[in-house]
Amino acid sequence: MNRREYLGLAALGGGAALAGAAAIAGRGSKNRAGDAFDRTGGSQSETLASPAILSNAREFRMVTTWPKGLPGLGQAAERVARTVGALSEGRLKIRVYADGELVKALECFDAVAAGSADMYHGAEYYWTGKVKGFAFFTAVPFGMTATEIMGWVREGGGQALWEELSGQFNVIAFHAANTGHQMGGWFRREIRSIDDWRGLKMRIPGLAGEVVRRLGGSAVVIPGADIFEALTNGTIDATEWVGPWNDEALGFHRAAPLYYGPGFHEPGAALALGMNRKVWDSLSSGDRAIFRAACAECNDWSLGAFTYNNGAALQRLVTTGGVTLRSFPDDVMLAARKASAEVLEAAAAADPLSRRIHESYKAALGTMRRWSEIGDGAYLRARGLP
Ligand code: CA
Repeated sequence: MNRREYLGLAALGGGAALAGAAAIAGRGSKNRAGDAFDRTGGSQSETLASPAILSNAREFRMVTTWPKGLPGLGQAAERVARTVGALSEGRLKIRVYADGELVKALECFDAVAAGSADMYHGAEYYWTGKVKGFAFFTAVPFGMTATEIMGWVREGGGQALWEELSGQFNVIAFHAANTGHQMGGWFRREIRSIDDWRGLKMRIPGLAGEVVRRLGGSAVVIPGADIFEALTNGTIDATEWVGPWNDEALGFHRAAPLYYGPGFHEPGAALALGMNRKVWDSLSSGDRAIFRAACAECNDWSLGAFTYNNGAALQRLVTTGGVTLRSFPDDVMLAARKASAEVLEAAAAADPLSRRIHESYKAALGTMRRWSEIGDGAYLRARGLP
C-alpha cells in the first residue's frame, strides 16, 4: 500500500471522525491540488469552446470529505457523479474534488452553503459543531441500522426534518452511501466485564467517545495514520475504525489482535450528498429526479460493497491474520446502552430542532424495533444455531 492509499484509508477513520482524520486526508492529497486546478481550467476551456449542442448542459463541482479513490466512500462520490452523467446522457457533468483539492474535508458544508461549490459528499455528523441534530442523519450510539435509517429518512419523516435542518444553511441533502454495521474495535486486552472497561484508553470520536467516558474509560481522537503506533506503544489500549475491509488495510490486528463486536457506536453509518439550495431550485423536476435516483443507487451499491468486502476481509483476518473475534459481555452492552441514551438526550437538549429530530428518530426506531428483532434479529440467530 503506498502512502496515498494509506492516508486515504486514514481519512475514513472512524467514521465519526473528524478533525484529525480530515487533517490527515488533507496532507495526503495536498500535493495533488495543483494538478486538480490545472485540470479544471482545461475542462472549462473545453466547455466554453463546445457549441451548445445540449442547450441545458450543466457542469457542477462536488467537494468531498474523502481522498480520491478512497475504498468504499471515495468510490461512492465518484459513482454518484458517473450515474448522474449516465442518466442525463452526459448533459449533467459533475467534477469531483477530493479532500484538499478545492476545500478541506470539514469545510465542505460551508463551501456548499456559500455556493463556492455546488454539492458535497460526506458525513453529516461532521457538522455537529453547527447543530447537534446532524448526528442523527449519519449514526448515533445504539441507534438505527443501515436499513432502519433508510426507513426513518424515506418513510418515517426524517427527510422533512433533515431538509428543515439543512435549509437553515441553504443546503438540501440526501443519503448517498452507507457503510453498514461497523465493528466495536481492536483491543489489546480482554474485556470480560464492565470492570475491565474502567481505565481503558480508547481511540473513539464523537458521541461514542462520551459514552466510553461515562463507562469509566477515556476517549481520545487520534488521526488515522497515528493509531497503529499509539496501539503499539501503549498510548491507547483500544481503537475503533470502520470494519474489516478498511481496518485490515491499516494493520490494527498486528498491534491488538482481539476484535470486538458489535459496533454499538455506529450500527450503520449513512453518508450524504448535500447540494446548494439555489442550485437545487434551479434544476428541472427531471434533473432533480436524476440526482435523487443517483444518490439512492449509490446508497444501495455501497451497502452491498461494504457487506461483501467486510465479509471477505473478515475471513482473511481470522484464517491467516491471527485475529480472535470476541463479543462484548452483556453487562458492558447494557451499561453502554444506558449511557448512549443519556448522551443522545444531552445532544437533543442543545436546541429545539435537535430535540424534534431526536423525538422523530426515537419514534421511528420505536416503530421499527420489534420488526427488526423478530425479522432480521431472530433469523440471524436461527441461522447461526449449531
Ligand atoms: Ca467508526
